[in-house]
Amino acid sequence: MIIVMKPQAAEQSIRAVTQYIEENGLQVHLSKGEEVTIIGLVGDKSKLSTETLSIFKDVERIVPITESYKLANRKFHSQPTTVQVGNTSIGPGNLTIMAGPCAVETKEQLLSIAHAVKDAGATILRGGAYKPRTSPYSFQGLAEEGLRYMQEAKAETGLSTICEVVSLDAIEAAVKYVDMIQIGARNMQNFILLKEAGQSGLPVLLKRGLCATIDEWLNAAEYIIAEGNPNVVLCERGIRTFETATRNTLDLSAVPVLRQKTHLPIIVDPSHSTGSYKYVAPMAKAAVACDADGLMIEVHNDPAHALSDGPQSLTFEKFAALTDALAPFCTLVGRDFKA
Ligand code: PEP
Ligand code: MN
Repeated sequence: MIIVMKPQAAEQSIRAVTQYIEENGLQVHLSKGEEVTIIGLVGDKSKLSTETLSIFKDVERIVPITESYKLANRKFHSQPTTVQVGNTSIGPGNLTIMAGPCAVETKEQLLSIAHAVKDAGATILRGGAYKPRTSPYSFQGLAEEGLRYMQEAKAETGLSTICEVVSLDAIEAAVKYVDMIQIGARNMQNFILLKEAGQSGLPVLLKRGLCATIDEWLNAAEYIIAEGNPNVVLCERGIRTFETATRNTLDLSAVPVLRQKTHLPIIVDPSHSTGSYKYVAPMAKAAVACDADGLMIEVHNDPAHALSDGPQSLTFEKFAALTDALAPFCTLVGRDFKA
């Protein structure tokens, strides 16, 4: 339920309402817009009388929220959220590019990629140290050693960093080395992991599950925010369909749908969704055109010899050409971006 206060409602009236809600054992989430203040409620509403609430001074109306996700809901928080990641941010007004290898392989590999993606306009370095591979015999990542290389790459380039986590141990290690953690598609409904991510104190990139509906995805985000961590960014990375020409099917319509449903920033991953470097550039442009807040793109110094996801990785040249080509798309949607 949300309580919409009258435009220019007095501070005292807002305080009186929030006090009444808290006295009844519920949590209050205030969203102060330029015009109106919205007071969101989380908890057991059976203890609360909506009739009583409606007669409080400056209350305009009471709106029930039927969706099971509340804190992630746009009705709760009408302004879009900006999430700070290290020294950069993801949200309205700019386009944030996260780029880097699928997996951190060696220190030299990571550093050379970090410099190349930075030169082309990326502000966040991605690199997997814990790889949830389909086959147990595939390269599983360097674990904490990989995180240390991420930290070194940050120190050398000034890029912010993100790494996927697959367990509580990985979260505990990641908080020591990187600026943002990623919950991958395969763990989107690992509710224990989501809660741990919520308690980590780091911003979280939540990728869409391979077969997840948008509402299931938003409920997963709710798990993280409900632990007191509002810094969640959603990443559309393609879903399973009958189509086999691409690795997954990029559901770009999720971007405008999410805009209606949530205040959280939304980025798009054209690499894992298409599975081929050939399709990354057109889908990246399309993602910017439909007003995504950012992109996650896999880049490798030598895709043919990459230990994971080589076929979808861009070379340095292709990545730089793509970021150059994104400029007019950013102008189109009014976002700042420097390639
Ligand atoms: C990744 O980004 O490294 C990854 C494994 O992606 P996803 O979880 O979307 O498959
Ligand atoms: Mn990958």
